[in-house]
Amino acid sequence: MADEFPSLHVSRHPAVQHKLALLRDEATEPKKFRELVREISWLVGYEALADARTRAVRVQTPLEETDGLKLADRIGLVPILRAGLGMVDAMLELMPTAQVWHLGLFRDERTLRPVEYYNKLPDSATVELCLILDPMLATGGSATAAIEVLKKWGAVRIKLINLIAAPEGVRAVEGAHPDVPIFTAALDRQLNERGYIMPGLGDAGDRQFGTGRSD
Ligand code: URA
Repeated sequence: MADEFPSLHVSRHPAVQHKLALLRDEATEPKKFRELVREISWLVGYEALADARTRAVRVQTPLEETDGLKLADRIGLVPILRAGLGMVDAMLELMPTAQVWHLGLFRDERTLRPVEYYNKLPDSATVELCLILDPMLATGGSATAAIEVLKKWGAVRIKLINLIAAPEGVRAVEGAHPDVPIFTAALDRQLNERGYIMPGLGDAGDRQFGTGRSD
């Protein structure tokens, strides 16, 4: 099915798939779940940065001077609140100089449409590459809304980093923004009638933050 989507990159790495199976498991507790979100985000983010720009530097080793490379792109991380927050630390480990901007979009459970309630973007675009972080690409409503906000603000290169994507969401993002590549650990089967990804992992926010449980 992934062949149907030219913008989509699904990680095939066995370590990613191993961690993803643990992440999906309903028995995985919030602490372990958060750890897995971080680890998978790092691995998917690593793949998403494969074409990041670099610049040459000289490095002094203990033995002699040699050539090296430094990340040259100024990068902005845009976690979609609240579930995207758990992906930020991993991405900052990969790109310590990245800036982090928070964008609050919640899904109206009735219309399944995103509603923006918080926006901490600087006044003008100050980076070359924006990475939108959201574990679940479900209907694509939040992702397309976030991309629209970033484009209006002046962002040119944008990538979407997810952990699990639904075909409906990928189709929506590709249809509206074919220039935005999507990186994910899995492409799942479909959305259910409540807008959850099947088989998915449930509510990524609740599972990270321990909310939504009756026990
Ligand atoms: N958001 C989630 O957290 N999970 C889904 O399955 C869909 C949207």
